[in-house]
Amino acid sequence: MSSDHKLLAEANHTRRLHVGDEVYLRGLIEISNFCSCNCLYCGLRRENQNIHRYRMTPHEILEAALPALELGYGTIVLQAGEDPGLSPQTIAGVITDLKNLGLAVTLSLGEWNRPVYRLWKQAGVDRYLMRHETADAKLYARLKPGKNLYDRLKSLNILRELDYQIGAGFMIGVPGNSDPSHEADLALLADLQPDMAGVGPFIPNPDTPLGNYKAPSMERSLSVLARVRLVIPDAHLPATTALETLYPQGRRQGLEAGANVIMPNLTPLRYRQEYRLYPGKGARGQGAENHQSILGLLKELRRPVGKGPGHSVLWNKKIRQTKKAAE
Ligand code: SAH
Ligand code: SF4
Repeated sequence: MSSDHKLLAEANHTRRLHVGDEVYLRGLIEISNFCSCNCLYCGLRRENQNIHRYRMTPHEILEAALPALELGYGTIVLQAGEDPGLSPQTIAGVITDLKNLGLAVTLSLGEWNRPVYRLWKQAGVDRYLMRHETADAKLYARLKPGKNLYDRLKSLNILRELDYQIGAGFMIGVPGNSDPSHEADLALLADLQPDMAGVGPFIPNPDTPLGNYKAPSMERSLSVLARVRLVIPDAHLPATTALETLYPQGRRQGLEAGANVIMPNLTPLRYRQEYRLYPGKGARGQGAENHQSILGLLKELRRPVGKGPGHSVLWNKKIRQTKKAAE
């Protein structure tokens, strides 16, 4: 067995021991593609004139979430650009409505502030996904003009203090990163021990200043993903959309290299095509057809669909400890 194969097999084994065989399905709704940031890698950056901007209404969001109930997705992930036009109160209302439907809620709306995070927590939100993107502070500042890594990590800390399950993560092979094995990113994840981590390949977007760079190879992407599983064995790790967009077998191979989550896209088609972080995103498989192909794949891999909200192992431990302390 080659060393790469050994690594992937070890990650798969660790995944089974720590988080089991279940694969959790999280319904993704991309609620706005307005963004006040200008990240060099991303198609939603404010200077990109080649997409039509949209912001979904609360009614549209709830309508998009309904199939999750039928399809057995325990969680809705609301994602957007960093959009100052999103009203925190409106988002709080949507969170409460989704929770009342029995769904867990994850937000991925970029950086806000403590009072807003608190408002959303009071509305019932469960988790917040905010990738650290790169652990190299200088590179971070170049890639995200006007932003800094310290603030990002501070937000993650605040979210944890407010009892959110938190998600960090990074882009494999982002231009400017000179370390193919991402040691600093792995060390940061090991230190943070987040409840989940979004780790996927960088994909060049021709509508951005980094459009001429190359995406990392499948082998590199999978071996970094596998190492993520080894450093944060208890965390939820998606087989990311970027991985499946870039490589035809990406979803399957991700699930066999440590991943235990899939995030099927529930965004209405008319909006989905404008949520173009990178080319080809969400192009493969739509709605019910996508769901059938996911079920088919999980059957082949003998991996059951995770039931219920799919809170993290770390979170469930914490809840048990709190209950014990109260007894
Ligand atoms: N605005 C929020 C959430 C939306 S962007 C935020 O930035 O946190 C979600 C993720 O898409 C980002 O964290 C980034 O890692 C990823 N992304 C953006 N452009 C990408 C690209 N060209 N290739 C791969 N991933 C990309
Ligand atoms: Fe905006 Fe997020 Fe894209 Fe940066 S990565 S431009 S914050 S949507």
